Amino acid sequence: MAKKVLVIGCGGVAQVAIQKLAKRDDVFSDMRIVSRTVSKCDAMKEKLEKNGTKLSISTGTVDADKVEDIVRVIKDYHPDVVLNVALPYQDLTIMDACLECKVDYVDTANYEPEDTDDPKWRKIYEKRCKEAGFTAYFDYSWQWAYKKKFEDAGLTALLGSGFDPGVTSVFVAYAKKHYFDTIDTVDILDCNGGDHGYKFATNFNPEINLREVSANGSYWENGKWIETKPMEIKRKYNFPQVGDKDMYLLHHEEIEALGKNFPEIKRIRFFMTFGQSYLDHMHCLEDVGMLSTEPVDFNGQKIVPIQFLKALLPDPASLGPRTVGKTNIGCIFTGTKNGEKKTLFIYNVCDHQECYKEVGSQAISYTTGVPAMIGTSLVADGTWKKPGVFTTDEFDPDPYMELLNQYGLPWVVDENPVLVD
Ligand code: NDP
Repeated sequence: MAKKVLVIGCGGVAQVAIQKLAKRDDVFSDMRIVSRTVSKCDAMKEKLEKNGTKLSISTGTVDADKVEDIVRVIKDYHPDVVLNVALPYQDLTIMDACLECKVDYVDTANYEPEDTDDPKWRKIYEKRCKEAGFTAYFDYSWQWAYKKKFEDAGLTALLGSGFDPGVTSVFVAYAKKHYFDTIDTVDILDCNGGDHGYKFATNFNPEINLREVSANGSYWENGKWIETKPMEIKRKYNFPQVGDKDMYLLHHEEIEALGKNFPEIKRIRFFMTFGQSYLDHMHCLEDVGMLSTEPVDFNGQKIVPIQFLKALLPDPASLGPRTVGKTNIGCIFTGTKNGEKKTLFIYNVCDHQECYKEVGSQAISYTTGVPAMIGTSLVADGTWKKPGVFTTDEFDPDPYMELLNQYGLPWVVDENPVLVD
C-alpha cells in the first residue's frame, strides 16, 4: 500500500508501536521517527534495520510543543498519517499541525494541560469541571472541540488508541455488536500483576501515571458523574491467570466517550489494581508536595516537583528486563440479548517477560504500543477513515479485534464471569 507514517515520540510506548509498525509492510513503505532526543530514534532505526524491516526508516528531531516545528517536520516528510506517542501535553499542537498540513492524526491519551495551575488553563478547566459536574481533569472536550475542523478538512483524528483507553472501548463496541441488544453496565478492569522488584516505580511516564492515580475518582451512572475521593472505592477481584488483587475505582477517560456514545449504558466504572507499597509511597510523596506541577524556587532555580521526581525514579523503559508476571485488562458487561439477562467478560492477558523477549519492553508499554500501531494502520489503509474526531468505540470493532489477535494481544470471551459488586 506504500503509506508513510510519522511517529512523534520515542519513549516506552513509542518503541513498541515503532517495532510493530515496522512489521506492517502490507500497509507502510516508510516510517520517520522524530522526538526530542534524536539518539533514541537513531537507536530504534538501527534495531529495526538489524531485524530486517522492509520499511525505509528515517529519523529527526522535533519540539512537539511548537506547532511550527511539527509543521516543518511534516512538510519535509509528507506522511499519510501522524502517530502521536509523545505526551498528552502535545496533543493539541500536533493536531493543529496535522490540520495545517492536511494529514490524519492518531494518539493514545487525551489532552491534558501540562500545568493546570497556569491561570490561562485554570479558567477553562474550572468552567469545564463545573459543566461536567466533577473535578478530575481528564477531559476529551479539548480534542472534541476540533471535530468540525477535522470534518471540514476531510481528515480523521483517532483519539486514545492504546489499551485503556483504546482496546477497552473496542471491547465495548464488539460486545454490543455481537453479544447484546442492550448493555446495562460496564466495569473496565486494569490489572497489572507484574513485579519489577523496585520498592517504587511507575510502569509508564511517572508524571502522567501519578497525576492519574492521585486525582479524584469518578464513575458514570444514569447519565451523571458520581465523584469519589482518590482510592475511596476498593474491591478485590480474582483475575484469570493472575489471581486475587485489590483494585481501586479511578476516573478514566474512556468513560467520558462511552457515556456519550452509548447512552443506554446505565453505569460505567473503571478499576485499577495497586499494591499497598505503591499506594503508601504515592501518599507519602503527595503529602510532602512531590506530586505538584507548580514550579518552586530552589537555590535560585525553578523546579517542578513532579518533574524532579521523574528524574529520580527508574525510567519505565528500563523495567522490561526485571518485570515478571502478567497483566489482565478487560471489560465485564451485564445486559440483555433477545430478552434474556446476560453477562460477559472480554479480556487480554499479557506476560511481561514474553513482551520483553519480543520487543525489549514490559507489558504496559506493549499493551499500549500494539493498539497504537493497529489504530494507525486502520486509519492509513482506509478501514477506519472518516472525517472528524473519533474514539475507538465509534468504528467497526471487527478489524481491530482481528489485528489484536494477529499482533500479540489475543483476547478471551468468558460468558460466565464473576461480577464486581
Ligand atoms: P515516555 O515518557 O516514555 O515517552 C514520551 C516520549 O515523548 C519521549 O520520547 C519524549 O522525548 C517525547 N517527548 C516528550 N515531550 C516532547 C516534546 N515536547 N517534543 C518532542 N518529543 C517529546 O512516555 P510513555 O511512552 O510512557 O507514554 C507515551 C504516551 O502513551 C503518553 O501520552 C501516555 O499517556 C500514553 N499511554 C497510554 C496508555 C493507554 O493505554 N491508552 C497507557 C500508557 C501510556 P525524550 O525521550 O527526549 O524524553
